Amino acid sequence: MQHDRAGTSGFREQDESLVPDPDLDADRLPIAVETKQTISDRLLSHTLRPAAGWFGAGLRAAIDIVYPPSCIACQAATGEAQALCPTCWGEMRFIERPYCERLGTPFAVDLGEGLVSPAAIADPPVFARARAVCRFDGTARELVHRLKYGDRTDLALTMGRMMLQAGRELLPDADVIVPVPLHRFRLWTRRFNQAVALAQVVSRGSAVALAPLALTRVKRTRQQVGLTRAQRADNLQGAFRVLPAARPQIEGRRVLLVDDVLTTGATGNAAARALLRGGARTVDILTFARVVSDGI
Ligand SMILES: [Zn+2]
Repeated sequence: MQHDRAGTSGFREQDESLVPDPDLDADRLPIAVETKQTISDRLLSHTLRPAAGWFGAGLRAAIDIVYPPSCIACQAATGEAQALCPTCWGEMRFIERPYCERLGTPFAVDLGEGLVSPAAIADPPVFARARAVCRFDGTARELVHRLKYGDRTDLALTMGRMMLQAGRELLPDADVIVPVPLHRFRLWTRRFNQAVALAQVVSRGSAVALAPLALTRVKRTRQQVGLTRAQRADNLQGAFRVLPAARPQIEGRRVLLVDDVLTTGATGNAAARALLRGGARTVDILTFARVVSDGI
């Protein structure tokens, strides 16, 4: 269905910065999601296809000796690449229903379908719905940290695949995926935007187009860590904008905003507000993890 929408609107022809990911083949896979597994697969498939069988299996074993598969969070030995060990898996707190239909925050007790939390009623978010794979603690915090600062860009592949599952209700309603941008100065110092890496995997897995440059961070904001809820909102006031050149990518479209973590929702609200001002029809948010304060 996404194909038809994109095709009939002439959407892909309008701007080359849109990445029509469904046709992306392995050789064009962005370097950000290249993995040891894909490298060894490619070695096997490109150099050894005629000699498959015991020889190929032997080479696979040799590669596994050089690069033994290890847990993506704690690096303990695992049976397969790009996986979590049983201990780290056990420390993932996945978010499942029942949860608030707007904020995606889990309820302690199941009171029935379609419920909205008191927090979402008292202070409605700018975005329509937020969903996340898991709570931001334990293993999830480690994975987010490694992806952001640890030069483990290959983690985006595993984390993005989990996001495909967590976003299964949002993706059929999305016309375009937009990652939360970094300010160009921060991008320059860090060289890598983890939200773009995750958005690439989600786009590729769902065949929803990716518009990595549709939203721009026009204000360099202070780090949000340590700020109160009100200070976070102030800090982000006017931080994002859909520049006129990017408007055709957003106007009239249902946008799925992608980021690594949703904390108070201040960033999500500021980015969603900018997208709605830029003409977006609706904005949903999909993140890998989200902060959940107990007692909700
Ligand atoms: Zn582990």
